[in-house]
Amino acid sequence: MAQYEYRCDRDGALEVSRPIGTAPETFECPACGRPAPRSFTGPMLSLAPRALVRAVDAAERTREAPGVVTAPPPAARRRATTTTNPLHRKLPRP
Ligand SMILES: [Zn+2]
Repeated sequence: MAQYEYRCDRDGALEVSRPIGTAPETFECPACGRPAPRSFTGPMLSLAPRALVRAVDAAERTREAPGVVTAPPPAARRRATTTTNPLHRKLPRP
């Protein structure tokens, strides 16, 4: 999601949250109902880690359309419980 800014002649600036690339040229002002033209501002580039940005975007996406899971996650592989230390061979077996 991205924040797009529009400016109504009568009511001033308004921010609209839409998916990237889907911002219309004008947006209907919620106060007066007249079309407000889009005004361009600097991008909000952040230094947040990509994984965090991806997680936040995924959380925002599932707010309106929850993700559908079709299968349980794969079971984690169990590590071998045997030891490779040769001294352990002399220990009694259970
Ligand atoms: Zn307005």
